[in-house]
Amino acid sequence: MRHEHKGKRIAHIKISNLKNGVHRYEFERVASDFADEWIDTERFSAPIFITATLTKTMTELVVELSITTVISLQCDRCLAPITKTISGDYRILFLQSANAVPDAEQDLDDDVRWLSAHETHIDLTTDVRETLLLAVPMKNVCEAPSCVANNVWVAREFSQTHGASFRSDWQQKLAEISKQFKN
Ligand SMILES: [Zn+2]
Repeated sequence: MRHEHKGKRIAHIKISNLKNGVHRYEFERVASDFADEWIDTERFSAPIFITATLTKTMTELVVELSITTVISLQCDRCLAPITKTISGDYRILFLQSANAVPDAEQDLDDDVRWLSAHETHIDLTTDVRETLLLAVPMKNVCEAPSCVANNVWVAREFSQTHGASFRSDWQQKLAEISKQFKN
């Protein structure tokens, strides 16, 4: 199941008549282009740079997405504004199908998809969105000595109190959240 987007096309690439070989596309977008509440203009205040490298052969098309931007956040401890450069990569394999347009439901996996011979474009908007959201760090602490020191202390205290079971619970939650983003 893929997220339906209402915003404008973020990374829409014409693939009809694309020759075998490597093709590189670059896009510069802003948060409002996505028209998506998750990609808010407060955090995503800087331009979002997207590179898509397409490698085409007779039977398949490999798409390597690379996204980078500067994100505006708040320190988890003192709420001071901080900025961070974030980046993410995602790879999708499209298998060429000579048959009629296969149903999206028949896709093999999120990152392995059918591509009908009749399709003229690929739209990577959803992939860009998910890659971007997954790149947002969960923990953010500014460089003030008190925040850095406190953060180390809290982390150590936490792991002593809760031990390994806490850490694995937390990692499981994180994995669940990442999965939700992919749906
Ligand atoms: Zn701080």
